[in-house]
Amino acid sequence: MTFGPSIRFDKLIRGVDFVVIATRFGDITRFDLARTVMGRGRYWTTAYLVDGLMVDSGCRHAAPELARLLRDEAITHLVNTHTHEDHIGGNEAVLRANPAAETIAHPLALRVLRDPRREQPLHPYRHVMWGMPRPCDARPAVDGEVIETSHHRFQVVFTPGHSDDHLCLFEPDTGWAFTGDLFVGGRDRALVVDGDAWAIAASLRRVAALRPTLLLPGAAKVRDEAVSALLEKAAYLEDLGGRIVEMHCQGRTEAEIVRAACGGPMLIELVTLGHFSRRGFVRSFLRGGRAPDPA
Ligand SMILES: [Zn+2]
Repeated sequence: MTFGPSIRFDKLIRGVDFVVIATRFGDITRFDLARTVMGRGRYWTTAYLVDGLMVDSGCRHAAPELARLLRDEAITHLVNTHTHEDHIGGNEAVLRANPAAETIAHPLALRVLRDPRREQPLHPYRHVMWGMPRPCDARPAVDGEVIETSHHRFQVVFTPGHSDDHLCLFEPDTGWAFTGDLFVGGRDRALVVDGDAWAIAASLRRVAALRPTLLLPGAAKVRDEAVSALLEKAAYLEDLGGRIVEMHCQGRTEAEIVRAACGGPMLIELVTLGHFSRRGFVRSFLRGGRAPDPA
């Protein structure tokens, strides 16, 4: 079951060129943020607030509106799942309003957070859709550490693949899993150029092993069939990767493999100038020529 029909729109702010939607899921508030093009939100990104803890902060373009929605909230922790600009763009605004908040991210994320302009130059489409984040400081997370808030505890789970610096948060008492861009739903046919599809599959299995009961992703619907969703996605990637490796061993060309495994051209490949592509997806499976990790 997903939560689509039961979503309650608490606030909807429509600015000149961005939209922020706040939705409640029990104790959790989810913020969906996007720049609008021709009056419609495009390339949505997501942040969550629970018990004073923010998971990600959306994109820079929507930071003023996010800060306005958070004006009455006391934020004690800000955790970034990874440093893609659509997840850290509101950090500076959140921290300006909550200077005592503890900011936590993967150790590999810190240099990007400190100097996003130098460490993570953006493609033009990323500037347009999300904007360049402002710098901020954070302390390094430790895999397995527990972050305590007033009423909850959140276990840090390192989950590389979508990016090297990706982590998830798991609340063992409630079963909540905040998964960032580890789980984006659907059947992927393309991947960001530096992604690692085998590592994504392994990370999906790692989170599934914790037996979460509510999946709170960064770019997909909240859903309560968390374990099956994670395992199905892992199996899909592993099966596809196996077929790609097999075709490669048979001497098929990259173009043939891309076509057979991922189908025809995708609009997102054009929009992102190839930064997000079927070829990148196939290459990630073939990089190093390795087989899938055992489940
Ligand atoms: Zn991402």
